[in-house]
Amino acid sequence: MTIMNVAVLGAGTMGAGIAQVAAQVGCSVVLFDISDDLAARGLGRVGAFLQKGVDRGKVTAEVRETVLGRIEAASDLASSVGKADLVVEAVPENLDLKRRILGDVAAAAPAHAILATNTSSLPISDIARGNEAAARIVGMHFFNPVPLMKLLELVVGGETADQTTATVRAFGERLGKEVITVRDAPGFASSRLGICLAMEAIRMVEQDVASAEDIDRAMMFGYGHPMGPLRLTDLVGCDVRMAIAEHLAEALDAPHFKPPALLRKLVEEGKLGKKTGQGFYAWE
Ligand code: NAD
Repeated sequence: MTIMNVAVLGAGTMGAGIAQVAAQVGCSVVLFDISDDLAARGLGRVGAFLQKGVDRGKVTAEVRETVLGRIEAASDLASSVGKADLVVEAVPENLDLKRRILGDVAAAAPAHAILATNTSSLPISDIARGNEAAARIVGMHFFNPVPLMKLLELVVGGETADQTTATVRAFGERLGKEVITVRDAPGFASSRLGICLAMEAIRMVEQDVASAEDIDRAMMFGYGHPMGPLRLTDLVGCDVRMAIAEHLAEALDAPHFKPPALLRKLVEEGKLGKKTGQGFYAWE
């Protein structure tokens, strides 16, 4: 099956980006949110992102108009998914909400439609449990900002059919992504490795092995990472990364994921990184 009609549920940060990349490869996209206003705001995000490209001379005004013309903002779920070959949900990270919305989608979407979730941490098998379309449910974990980040992590749930995985892999490659396939294990591949590195880097700051800057520089200039693990923690948010680390420590029963005391202290003091102006670094 070649995917031509895509519905994206949740017109926030990720939903807008996913709608954009699907429209860029020629798909007709419906961008759904719970109100017309929120859906329109999502479409506005896509327009703003493309406009930056125009300003920098990377995108033409014609391309911007063509891509925007392929995306329709909507707030009626049944009609939004009625013609979809692929539905990607990017609603907030809440298991009950994702289960409920994919249950409604299974009843309203065509029988061939693939139902993908952009969850960053919830088990696909839990999201799919009891859903009549469980064989067509798969994780499509995009990264922020979606139009720029190359990785697409496909997460295969216990009931996901091979055909489902093959179809979304082909679609991911059409989007120009580097596609990896991961079993439905806590933290998938990306978060599990990324958080492990960050927690160890924080312990190294605690133990005065080197400064935060030099630990980051070790990974950048010795291992070719575009950014060190401490700076990345500041960008994502110390609170966000601490929550993921706590979840992985419990889910994997692995003490090396336990947040170090220094991370807890920063979070308690409201030093959450870039968004509050202070974390491992001072931000302007
Ligand atoms: P966001 O808060 O920016 O957007 C969520 C959108 O969903 C909002 O527009 C909200 O109005 C809408 N929404 C709420 N309830 C809804 C419902 N019942 N039906 C339809 N829409 C509804 O969130 P986000 O950062 O885009 O994250 C969305 C998902 O993507 C989460 O599962 C998150 O874990 C995952 N994710 C986020 C990132 C990231 O860096 N932000 C990266 C990878 C994955």
